[in-house]
Amino acid sequence: IKKIGVLTSGGDSPGMNAAIRGVVRAGLGEGLEVFGIYDGYLGLYEDRMVSLDRYSVSDLINHGGTFLGSARFPEFREESTRMIAMENMKKRGLDALVVIGGDGSYMGAKRLTEMGFPCIGLPGTIDNDVAGTDYTIGYHTALETVVEAIDRLRDTSSSHQRISIVEVMGRHCGDLTLAAAIAGGCEFFVTPEIPYTREELLAEINAGIAKGKKHAIVAITELICDVSELARYIEKETGRETRATVLGHIQRGGAPCAYDRILASRMGTYAIDLLLQGYGGRCVGVQNEKMVHHDIIDAIENMKRPFRKDVLETAKRLY
Ligand code: ADP
Repeated sequence: IKKIGVLTSGGDSPGMNAAIRGVVRAGLGEGLEVFGIYDGYLGLYEDRMVSLDRYSVSDLINHGGTFLGSARFPEFREESTRMIAMENMKKRGLDALVVIGGDGSYMGAKRLTEMGFPCIGLPGTIDNDVAGTDYTIGYHTALETVVEAIDRLRDTSSSHQRISIVEVMGRHCGDLTLAAAIAGGCEFFVTPEIPYTREELLAEINAGIAKGKKHAIVAITELICDVSELARYIEKETGRETRATVLGHIQRGGAPCAYDRILASRMGTYAIDLLLQGYGGRCVGVQNEKMVHHDIIDAIENMKRPFRKDVLETAKRLY
């Protein structure tokens, strides 16, 4: 292979820039030409790409977001749209594509691979919900952000004997919530993997109050319920002031932490190794601290991320 493309797609995450940098620097080091594609699959379809040199990725390792831009482009599900994207890549002489993104972006990479264009997927999302890896690029940075927010809420909740409900991102994956609950010392947490009723949560909070707890912080994953409505219910039933805080996109921004910069750099350079070894249609992961790669189709269709029951058990014992 001589020329490759790199793009970031779907929801952005801190460390995507470091991953692009890893791909570019390692690729150039091996004598490849590397094209940066703007705005994910949309830019691929619209043929917006530029040849990158080593200085194109200078001063980026410490920046959140993605300098290439990212986009949602649902039209990419249609084969006719992907054909145009493939033609653009062929016209430019690209031999392979590195896709940095989440589950949805992997689907696009899988489809292109099935159509005969080799892709390598790197897991870039704060949700930690991608198969075939213990951690995704951006997860640890988001975790720091959530914990910092919980620390701040703790100060004010404690002063006012208030109950705080914090909505954490993660879509259908509770990793971020659970880890933040442990690190933030949250008394209560609700994640998609744990059966939940608001009556049970209320009973737990009441038990805490009976024990003499001055405040309660509940960490809850997004999409489980309307947290404002939950706060009104808890306030009515306990008689304690209860506030809901939705952290939202704050969790997606900020300078990547050292772990994410290193993970992104390892994954970016590893993607180049795989391409040079002739691999296509693979996704990269870190498992037990080692770089690994899996069939991207198999990962999407057959690999379920195991829920960390051991972590859950630890969290429960810290009540
Ligand atoms: P994420 O990658 O963060 O999970 P999305 O689910 O929005 O984010 O996916 C990002 C993009 O990947 C979509 O906007 C679309 O362009 C592409 N994509 C998602 N699903 C498919 C699919 N089934 N086939 C082809 N492309 C897809």
